[in-house]
Amino acid sequence: MCNADESEPGTFKDRVLMEGDPFSVIEAMTIAGYAIGARTGYLYIRGEYPRALRHLENAITLARGRGLLGPDVLGSGFAFDIEIRRGAGAYICGEETAIFGSIEGQRGEPRSKPPFPVEKGLFGKPTAVNNVETLVNVLPILLMGGPAYAAVGTDQSTGPKLFCLSGGVRRPGLYELPFGATLRDLVEAAGGMPEGRTIQAVLLGGAAGAFVRGDELDIPLTFEGARAAGTTLGSGVVLVLDDTADLVATLVRVAAFFRDESCGQCVPCRVGTVRQEESLLRIRGGGDPESEVALLREVGRAMKDASICGLGQTAWNAVESAIDRLGLFEESETEEAR
Ligand code: SF4
Repeated sequence: MCNADESEPGTFKDRVLMEGDPFSVIEAMTIAGYAIGARTGYLYIRGEYPRALRHLENAITLARGRGLLGPDVLGSGFAFDIEIRRGAGAYICGEETAIFGSIEGQRGEPRSKPPFPVEKGLFGKPTAVNNVETLVNVLPILLMGGPAYAAVGTDQSTGPKLFCLSGGVRRPGLYELPFGATLRDLVEAAGGMPEGRTIQAVLLGGAAGAFVRGDELDIPLTFEGARAAGTTLGSGVVLVLDDTADLVATLVRVAAFFRDESCGQCVPCRVGTVRQEESLLRIRGGGDPESEVALLREVGRAMKDASICGLGQTAWNAVESAIDRLGLFEESETEEAR
């Protein structure tokens, strides 16, 4: 199963791969299918990617015509084909088990784990779920060989990595750097900041990620480096907010996003995302930051500890990091925000 839902705000790497080289996705899925003994690969693509869908459909047709997909792939006796399923715009359907419900014609809601997808997944069958970038990495690993591929990057984060860079930099876009490059290297690869602008904060990992300060650009972009710095790489989103950005408005937008996208299955997330947004709106409207921050912490802790899936568990990450790392809502900041 190829998870091409890619609905984390600020993420667009899988779209670029599918639009630019759909054959690489087909080849990678076929190799993955061969490796695990699957006869059918499902590609679940978000409905908002019409061009990627067209390119993939065309590529699949061509691949079938050339015997690269079908009952006898390249005359090897291995049967494999790909079916595309389109999402209908729900963020939660990018969750690895909610995808199953969406494809099976049920509500796109996460399932409790265990059982894990590799034990009981789509249609109750063992299923390997990976996103587009992960699958496409299979190709250079096979071409270069594992050790050569692993020589790129660091010991614990191997290979190259795609970063979706957006916000105030000179040249936002998709950048590929070896794991281990720093946030500063990435910003510099994008031409740095425009004249006169400085970095106020960087949101790593998208709406479900966390903020770091503008003076923390030496954080290495690796799984272990991000973890050591108390943050996350998440889906590879790097959103740079310059000194003119309205942080409170950004947080309200993030909170509204999670309130909208919560599937409503479990109470901590269904209610917590609403309360979180309400509290931020009260602060923006002049409410007492001290009591609101205490409430935000309580709601955030409940969502993190008691939600079923990653949406609820991470819905408070950006707000928490803005409070604790950026010092937002401290008295002077609050006065400024007003
Ligand atoms: S955490 Fe939120 S999105 Fe996830 S299952 Fe619960 S209500 Fe649904």
